[in-house]
Amino acid sequence: MNDINWNDYALETQAIRAGHKRTHEDEHSMPIFATSSYVFNSAEEAALRFTGQKPGNIYSRFTNPTVSAFQERLALMEQGERCLAFASGMAAIMAVGMGLLKAGDHVVCSRGVFGNTVLMFQNYFGKFGVTTDFVDLTDMAAWEAAIKPNTCLLFLETPSNPLTEIADIAELADLAHRHGCLLVVDNCFCTPALQKPLLLGADIIVHSATKYIDGQGRCVGGAVVASDAIIEKQIYPYLRTGGATMSPFNAWVFLSGLETLALRMKAHCDNAVALAQWLQQQPGVVKVHYPGLPSHAQHELAKRQQSHFGGIVSFELAGGKEQAWQLIDATEMLSITANLGDVKTTITHPASTTHGRLTPETRAAAGIKDGLVRLSVGLENLEDIKKDLSKGLPQR
Ligand SMILES: *Cc1c(COP(=O)(O)O)cnc(C)c1O
Repeated sequence: MNDINWNDYALETQAIRAGHKRTHEDEHSMPIFATSSYVFNSAEEAALRFTGQKPGNIYSRFTNPTVSAFQERLALMEQGERCLAFASGMAAIMAVGMGLLKAGDHVVCSRGVFGNTVLMFQNYFGKFGVTTDFVDLTDMAAWEAAIKPNTCLLFLETPSNPLTEIADIAELADLAHRHGCLLVVDNCFCTPALQKPLLLGADIIVHSATKYIDGQGRCVGGAVVASDAIIEKQIYPYLRTGGATMSPFNAWVFLSGLETLALRMKAHCDNAVALAQWLQQQPGVVKVHYPGLPSHAQHELAKRQQSHFGGIVSFELAGGKEQAWQLIDATEMLSITANLGDVKTTITHPASTTHGRLTPETRAAAGIKDGLVRLSVGLENLEDIKKDLSKGLPQR
């Protein structure tokens, strides 16, 4: 089992079996290696491991068997050469910046990315002389126009949150490479079960494992997947020094999360498609944003680029903020939280929570209306989710 070539296997099989190197104890399930350090057979062996001339564990800030199993499994599932795990999704994004950028560099980032990603680029990398311009995710001309001679990274999330806009990863990878830049894709919303950015030409994937990879809202974690060269030269040295490491316990939780990822994603998508179609017919709902609907501006692209349409649905109510809050408060079962990717359906009002710090003008430019409600569709019975939402929708 320890020398099977998992590249020859499908994602569902890799998700369940790859990464675990069975020990002399013959355990069936992946153990948690709760150890901070490792011992060497001799002084010479210690020296060889420290210089990397001999492979093996050294210290759990950068080498731990449970974390390594998670890394190997996720790398295979993304069809990337290597993966490194981090303490959170933000720590993974931080590592990409710290590893690849220097003062004087420029980044182009899509406007709809996770709020803390915007703050990371603007406030923290900005503080050290890296500048970032934000562009519309789907506007190819804007991406191209924003590229300068010192641009070295393009960064995006697709589908976007909360409007589920879709970027053409292959086209943006091509644009990036024509200008000598790397393309980074945050693949948190689709996961490798629905979308493989590296196969479309992206250079680096970042993940918040906190979302669908865990899938049950338990642990915080993140990952970077890229070529062996990028990981070895730029990301690993930063992880080793920076120390935003994933704990073995969290890696163990995420390993079992990966085992059911493909099944869960399919079930999330099936519920989301049905719910989006149903929402379109409800009184008071003026627009439903979901890539699986033929009315979605990038429906065809989503069909090509993703194997299914994802679990995030947002919709606009005619009655603005008042009606959105009323709907949210009228639900009995749904969780009022901005978290997503959980088996539990969550409901949130982006304009006053995740996007509440933006000025009304910026929010309007981003298309986040006051009547917008976002759902992360969970795996409860579909009729129960509809029943709960019906409590707050205007009656016919
Ligand atoms: C949550 C999230 C992050 C940040 O991940 P954490 O694990 O919370 O640090 C980054 N990107 C996206 C798209 C997210 O949803």
